[in-house]
Amino acid sequence: MESPWGEIEVWDAHVHFFSHRFFGLLGEQMAERTGTEAVCAKAGVAVPPEDPAELARLWAAELDRHGVAGAALLASLPGDEGSVAAALRAVPGRFFGHFFVNPLAGGALEKAESAFNDGLRTMCLLPAMHGFSLGDKRVEPFFSLAAERGANVFVHCGVLSVGIRKKLGLESRFDLRYSNPVDLHPIALRLESVNFIVPHFGAGYFREALMVASLCPNVYLDTSSSNSWRKYMAPQPSLEEVFERALDVAGDGRLLFGTDSSFFPRGWNRAVYEEQAACLAKLGASPDTVKRVFGENLRRLMDGRRGSPGNQSGDC
Ligand SMILES: [Zn+2]
Repeated sequence: MESPWGEIEVWDAHVHFFSHRFFGLLGEQMAERTGTEAVCAKAGVAVPPEDPAELARLWAAELDRHGVAGAALLASLPGDEGSVAAALRAVPGRFFGHFFVNPLAGGALEKAESAFNDGLRTMCLLPAMHGFSLGDKRVEPFFSLAAERGANVFVHCGVLSVGIRKKLGLESRFDLRYSNPVDLHPIALRLESVNFIVPHFGAGYFREALMVASLCPNVYLDTSSSNSWRKYMAPQPSLEEVFERALDVAGDGRLLFGTDSSFFPRGWNRAVYEEQAACLAKLGASPDTVKRVFGENLRRLMDGRRGSPGNQSGDC
């Protein structure tokens, strides 16, 4: 990928794999209980191929078109882990697999085990969406499983707005009380072998996400999406200022570049890359920092290795 620093290897830490089955599962949640084709028509997106392997090849071609080395693909509803597993098999070496899990749903632990068996590396928890506290006893076995498997845990914090649900008129009865990254603090401290990813810089809980990252060397922040949560802050920081703070507190070893791309025909959201690269250029980031943020950190994390702890607040 071309960049202000010359050629760099870019890996995207946050791409939703909106499979045929994903839209089918959404359709089951709709009042009219409709199928994938009708769901896609209503959402204004292309109908993905039925075979997830074929969708994986489409994504690989799309990444090629932009010069992107690879991406972490998120199975974006519980029950769609198999689609991402098929993508990993179809195009080896280009993708990492993440999957959503609802710890309160029956059979969720078995599903998570089988997703790990199928080569997925990261379990995604959405406490506000599924209505649980991270400290809930019922979540404990999921953390233990991640620790046993040397896997990562992604925890969506802050404001969660799912564009596709809005387009479909689906209710989003999420509970913001469960979305503070501070809840992650005791868990990340206790499970020091597990790496945790907080997307979108905490999606509104920027200060809290930085506090937890500062106190726990196993907490990473992803930079994905438009980061419109900045509007909740007064004065509203520029994205460049967000990067500056995050680099200062977490260091360049714990930021993961991501776009939050999801559907076709839009495909890979290059504008997010351009904007974030411009921010780092304005900050005068070194080529080493840029390589870490745009790919090396994700690759190291998915290999089960840890980034440099960066600046930690061990000042007492
Ligand atoms: Zn996302």
